[in-house]
Amino acid sequence: MTGLSDSFQRPIDYLRISVTDRCNLRCIYCMPAEGVRLMSHEDILSYEEIHKVAEAAAELGIKKLRITGGEPLVRAGLPKLVQMLAQIDAIDDISLTTNGILLANYAAELKSAGLRRVNVSLDTLKPDRFKEITRYGNFADVLEGIEVAKSVGLNPTKINVVVMSGINDDELIDFATKTITEGWHVRFIEHMPFGEHANTFTFISVAEMRQRLAVLGELEPCSFKGNGPAKYFRLPQAKGTIGFITPVSEHFCFNCNRLRLTADGKLRPCLLSEEEIDLRQPLRSGISSAELKSLIKKAVANKPLRHNLAEGRVPQDRPFSQVGG
Ligand code: SAM
Repeated sequence: MTGLSDSFQRPIDYLRISVTDRCNLRCIYCMPAEGVRLMSHEDILSYEEIHKVAEAAAELGIKKLRITGGEPLVRAGLPKLVQMLAQIDAIDDISLTTNGILLANYAAELKSAGLRRVNVSLDTLKPDRFKEITRYGNFADVLEGIEVAKSVGLNPTKINVVVMSGINDDELIDFATKTITEGWHVRFIEHMPFGEHANTFTFISVAEMRQRLAVLGELEPCSFKGNGPAKYFRLPQAKGTIGFITPVSEHFCFNCNRLRLTADGKLRPCLLSEEEIDLRQPLRSGISSAELKSLIKKAVANKPLRHNLAEGRVPQDRPFSQVGG
């Protein structure tokens, strides 16, 4: 096996799989209150179809998978998919991105099925504010999910925080303090200007976040397990880490190692480009493994050099919840 690389010589070894466009929350920056038009059940790839794509991708050089959505844990039987994916020889890492609401119920089963680690999206530590941001969620459920995930060995469990001015930017220090008091691994993410709230929040760059965190002491650079673009640091005496992700202020496209599979079976070479290659129709017309691999190679070859968020260009074709953040 020679591995996959795109036309800019970037090695591609990571596939993010969205298993549903449905979500049990309506986070203000991600989905409108009334939700978005949903895909029909027949539009969504079955677990067998997802497995077929992952297997072909693994034979080409994909080694790491992340399951996302929508909210992946609202799809019935997710541990079964994890178990199927874990049996693919070349796959050495399977992770999950979740809002954590249902995590306590499934963490043990997911771990036994072969899940390695989990990222939990949590934008506030205040229960009332949690309800305002997510419109539905119960904060205590997420906290319990994080604890159960850690206790069953989903390691590391990382906490993803989208930082929004006037919404949760006053909690930067509280989140950072959790890396000392609880050993949390917290990642601060710049808000990307998408959807109905594209321009509602004043943008806060990672540079500004770092300035605000300076009162806690010097951030020591450190290395930390992950497949993505975060840069990691540690505060003095912290067991946990602080990661920063800069999709807007400093794109990391030159290191991009990923492809995305949408819940309705499109391979998307870049989160922020509308270009997609349909796999569902070919899968349902009995495509051979060799033909499937050539479509995957085509998607890799079509990866754009970089996105154009900084120039204000954002994809209009699908809401974020459908692509799988
Ligand atoms: N439901 C799962 C979750 O909550 O993690 C997975 C899907 S969610 C769309 C994936 C991630 O995208 C979350 O961490 C969410 O905070 C992030 N996200 C959604 N809209 C975003 C935006 N406009 N800017 C930055 N991150 C965003």
